[in-house]
Amino acid sequence: MSQALVLNATFEPLCVVSTRRALLLLIDEKAEQVHATDRIFRAERVAFAEPSVVRLRYYVKVPYRARVALNRRAVFARDGHRCQYCGDSAENIDHVIPRSRGGLHVWDNVVASCRPCNARKRDHLVEETGMRLKRPPSVPRQRTFILVASGAIRSEWEPFLEQASASLSA
Ligand SMILES: [Zn+2]
Repeated sequence: MSQALVLNATFEPLCVVSTRRALLLLIDEKAEQVHATDRIFRAERVAFAEPSVVRLRYYVKVPYRARVALNRRAVFARDGHRCQYCGDSAENIDHVIPRSRGGLHVWDNVVASCRPCNARKRDHLVEETGMRLKRPPSVPRQRTFILVASGAIRSEWEPFLEQASASLSA
């Protein structure tokens, strides 16, 4: 099943939907086509190029933090499936401040970790182990939530995602 990236009226990436859902947005004139593939869909009297990127005609207000659910897949996507201590392939989720020491299960306290690092750190704080985090964890950017929602980022989505990352870090 192919998917389409939905942009807000401001061109900010919002979510990923099925091609069918994107087509309905176009047919209902709730969205406009920004990028289409070479395939054509026909319904009764109309024909539409298969949407790959559509933009809503109206502005939708979405709190950024609400968009990315904290789960294993999302943490791995944010951290590039790499252990945030040593860079090896990650298999576990590590709480930077251990839960046993009051650490919360929130975006800025979880990192992807390999099994040995996770075992070595256990109930310790980072400072107590001599280990070092590659970067402090934070709420993931657009790119991660698109990746998690769709499983893949299509090349024609890239310019919109890059733009969003740039405006977020500005
Ligand atoms: Zn490691």
